Amino acid sequence: MPSKENPSGRRGSAASKKNAFCSFCRKSYRDVGPLVEGPGDVYICGECIELCQSILDQEQKRRGPTKTLFNEIPTPRKIVEHLDQYVIGQGSAKRVLAVAVHNHYKRLTSEWEGGCDVEIEKSNILLAGPTGSGKTLLARSLARMLNVPFAIGDATTLTEAGYVGEDVENLLLKLLHAADFDIEAAQRGILYIDEVDKIGRSSGNVSITRDVSGEGVQQSLLKMLEGTVANVPPQGGRKHPEQQYIQMDTSNILFICGGTFVGIEDIIRKRLGHKTLGFGGGTGHRNEQTTTELLRQVQTEDILQFGLIPELVGRLPVISYLEPLDKEGLIRVMKEPKNAIIKQYQALFQMENSDLHFTDGALEHVAQMALEKGVGARGLRGILEDVMLDIMYELPEKAEGNVYTIDEAIVTGRRNLFTMPTTKSA
Ligand code: ADP
Repeated sequence: MPSKENPSGRRGSAASKKNAFCSFCRKSYRDVGPLVEGPGDVYICGECIELCQSILDQEQKRRGPTKTLFNEIPTPRKIVEHLDQYVIGQGSAKRVLAVAVHNHYKRLTSEWEGGCDVEIEKSNILLAGPTGSGKTLLARSLARMLNVPFAIGDATTLTEAGYVGEDVENLLLKLLHAADFDIEAAQRGILYIDEVDKIGRSSGNVSITRDVSGEGVQQSLLKMLEGTVANVPPQGGRKHPEQQYIQMDTSNILFICGGTFVGIEDIIRKRLGHKTLGFGGGTGHRNEQTTTELLRQVQTEDILQFGLIPELVGRLPVISYLEPLDKEGLIRVMKEPKNAIIKQYQALFQMENSDLHFTDGALEHVAQMALEKGVGARGLRGILEDVMLDIMYELPEKAEGNVYTIDEAIVTGRRNLFTMPTTKSA
């Protein structure tokens, strides 16, 4: 309606009512100058408009990168290509993960856009496979590619509420930390929970009657995996009544659970009825083959037999098995990934203006030592660090411009790198 002060009668035009007040900061027209008039005697001053704009800008900044990220969720093929740069082998696990992760984030975006009538259920993932085969690395590489917060927790540190130990909510706190306390980002992050096989009902511990770390923990994990609003204690530690909690909705967090499931091959063998293939006799190599073949066929029912409760397994519909890395695989781990350990040492040498090479024999020997330790690729760095420590200690004092070659004799400590003849780099 046209009025004296706002003759056009248009909403949002600048008003100059002498006795008008900004409805937000309550300052008068005389103090803050022209006001913008809204419907029903509502005004806003220039200062408040600026303040609102900065609040909106901040919010936009906070949401910005994630929004763009989810506009273009990488295809499963692209995800596998990315993983290939960091993780050696594990082709089948990569494909399974790529599809699950693609669908997971597709589901989130379609939910936001309200575009899907069919409710797509979340597919949390279970990765079974020996230590040092790349389970954590796969999960971490995925999170990095998708630019979502990532945290690692250990199921064995958890206890049922009321017992001494950690509450499952502390895992969520780690994710919140990784997201710099941006709850929205944390709520669509990836949480890797290691050693879920160790909380099985029948695993390890003798007592099945008094279950401190078994079924109760599985029940609390289950709630998180199903999707719940959890009360996360911001300081960590056990919950107590006077504490303030941060509420975190877990329904869109992607949980990747990992475990070695030692001995599950026996369960698989029984299921398949291959009772005759024993591990007792025959050569080690033949048996190893057999074990891996069996493990590749791991299924939900084997995991149930192993001692995880059906409800929890039900929430982990995607199961994949990671192969143990053989000698060849371990050598590739040292050489090929984008941030391969050999490349890192070479970069350090370059910084001292020298070149570094490793002979095949040297790498084979390191791989063999790692195999003997039985901790997969996890052992490689430690072994190489032992070999390289004295060399890195002395290198900065050596003349620049040399080419150094690490061979098997140096790895085994039979020879010192700096007493060997060197060549000048080109
Ligand atoms: P897991 O979780 O299966 O016990 P990790 O993923 O923690 O093993 O592996 C430990 C380290 O070993 C990784 O940080 C990485 O350096 C190396 N590694 C393990 N598996 C692979 C692999 N398949 N490709 C490349 N590096 C690997």
